[in-house]
Amino acid sequence: MKTQFLLRSNLILLGTLCAGLFSGCSSSTFRGNNPDDAPGKYHIKTEHVILHSDVKLSSDDPLIQELKELRDEIAQTLELKLGEKQVEVFMFEDETSYQKFLTNHYPGLPPRRAYFVGTSSKLAVYTVWTDRIREDLRHEFTHGVLHSALPFVPLWVDEGFAEYFELPTAAGIPREDYLSELARLQLNGWKPNLRRLEQLDAVGEMQRLDYAESWAWVHWMLHNNPQTRKSLLDYAHHPEQQAAIPLSKRLTKIIPNPEQELTDWIAQSSAGQ
Ligand SMILES: [Zn+2]
Repeated sequence: MKTQFLLRSNLILLGTLCAGLFSGCSSSTFRGNNPDDAPGKYHIKTEHVILHSDVKLSSDDPLIQELKELRDEIAQTLELKLGEKQVEVFMFEDETSYQKFLTNHYPGLPPRRAYFVGTSSKLAVYTVWTDRIREDLRHEFTHGVLHSALPFVPLWVDEGFAEYFELPTAAGIPREDYLSELARLQLNGWKPNLRRLEQLDAVGEMQRLDYAESWAWVHWMLHNNPQTRKSLLDYAHHPEQQAAIPLSKRLTKIIPNPEQELTDWIAQSSAGQ
């Protein structure tokens, strides 16, 4: 289960429950302006990622290298021009210190394994070392990369992309977990509904199924054909136009019944796995 908290227009919180040498990198001992209870034993600074960790990692750790590659992959896949903004990752070594930090600085948040916090001055990922750290980091780091390039990302698009990049699958290969889950639900009468997803923008509104559906729309649009891909990327690239013409409406100009098309794709892709 994952939840986004859109608290104010300039503060975005997205949480996850489920959920070679690095060129140009350097290690340092700075803490910056970070609070005392943030992880501070180890610091690694790379060109686009700053890691503050209580878990010992070296600058050539595969996890850090993977974030660099993921950043490039996101930029290439979504045709984003990424700026100079860095994403700061705060890695806690245990659940207790992580939860205590969240309680101190973001009181009232439900427990989640990781959070992305975006403000006009900082893009931060807070997470705790678990056996799902790779997946959590990829998910939250995707939010960071998106918000480094785009001034606003609709909630379902934000989560759809984060779910898309969360698992290191080959381009175009749908993730098996959501695909089989959605196919099973379809047999019991569930149908995708993009207009409903577009209405979700408040605290705690998104449930696991909404994340799965967001992933399905994003994956299908990126790989269905050049028109659906262009429609999704145009929509994501132009936040100022999003309210005027929602994606559900844009899609019907190129596909009369996108919900049915997605339904058919889920059924067919699931049967082929
Ligand atoms: Zn998320």
